[in-house]
Amino acid sequence: MKTVGYAAYSQGSDLKPYAFERRELRENDVAIEILYCGVCHSDLHSVRNDWGGSTYPLVPGHEIIGRVTAVGSDVSRYQVGDTVGVGCMVDSCQHCDQCEAGEEQFCREGMTPTYSGQDRHTHEPTQGGYSRHVVVREEFVLSIPKSLDLSRVAPLLCAGITTYSPLKAWDVKPGTRVAVLGLGGLGHMAVKLAVAMGAVVTVVGRTDSKLEDAKALGAQHYLISSDEAAMAQAQSSFDLIIDTIPVKHDVTGYVPLMDVNGTLVIVGQVGLLEEPSTVPMIFGRRRIAGSLIGGIPETQEMLDFCGEHNVLPECEMIRMDEINDAYERMERSDVRYRFVIDMASMPESA
Ligand SMILES: [Zn+2]
Ligand SMILES: [Zn+2]
Repeated sequence: MKTVGYAAYSQGSDLKPYAFERRELRENDVAIEILYCGVCHSDLHSVRNDWGGSTYPLVPGHEIIGRVTAVGSDVSRYQVGDTVGVGCMVDSCQHCDQCEAGEEQFCREGMTPTYSGQDRHTHEPTQGGYSRHVVVREEFVLSIPKSLDLSRVAPLLCAGITTYSPLKAWDVKPGTRVAVLGLGGLGHMAVKLAVAMGAVVTVVGRTDSKLEDAKALGAQHYLISSDEAAMAQAQSSFDLIIDTIPVKHDVTGYVPLMDVNGTLVIVGQVGLLEEPSTVPMIFGRRRIAGSLIGGIPETQEMLDFCGEHNVLPECEMIRMDEINDAYERMERSDVRYRFVIDMASMPESA
């Protein structure tokens, strides 16, 4: 199937129109016409090959919302016309212990990422959602609740599940005291989801510049990390800290904010941290942990939860040809809080 997307043709280059083929449907495949695609910081990291392994041309995009246009002969869960989503992965081995537990993101053989991966059968590069169409095996296609505003759902497929998964893994429920570090694409979702779960949510910021935003997103409290007195007073007052800060940083000052047995979960920074002191970890059995996306069952659970509680990201809609400017703005944190590409603006041909 011929399609068109926007690709980086080489490391760090601007994205430009790109004509390419999607595979013919296998028996278990779903063909999707893409309506919206969210813009994730990982897209930019991949374009620049910051994490290694990128291949070009590279079509980014792993927050995909679309409509089913065709299904393979063995597909049972979806029909033509259904509204569906695709997130950060499109395949896995399906038989290891992690896949069987519904944690395909930790597949022992490695999950297949939505872009910059390799198809498990043909070894062709996978290409992402900055395109008109995508073909994905049924098991990795998600159902979108009808109640949600489609133009805002896309970021749930990465930013949403990346923050939902640790909230569930650490058993957040009504009354749990949750702090959120960083208030970008991930952080604002962490706030909305934790609030919807009934948690008491505090946003921690360096200055008071995000105070109004934090309150508008539903956070009950705001803590200024440069205010030593306030930080001292907030010691031992959180059960869980979701750390969405996307760059190398020092967590030492945040660890004492956790109560005994508390956990600080890193979901933003992929790579090195500043050297943390073990003192507040030892004196309080506090942990520093990490978390990725969630598996497919948990991603569906998150979408259904958002449908029930009408939790949606704050989005700024852009045209496809605005993507390079959007990347520059994303780097300056000049977005509230997630760009979403309206795929109706994709050119008909490259
Ligand atoms: Zn992402
Ligand atoms: Zn597996």
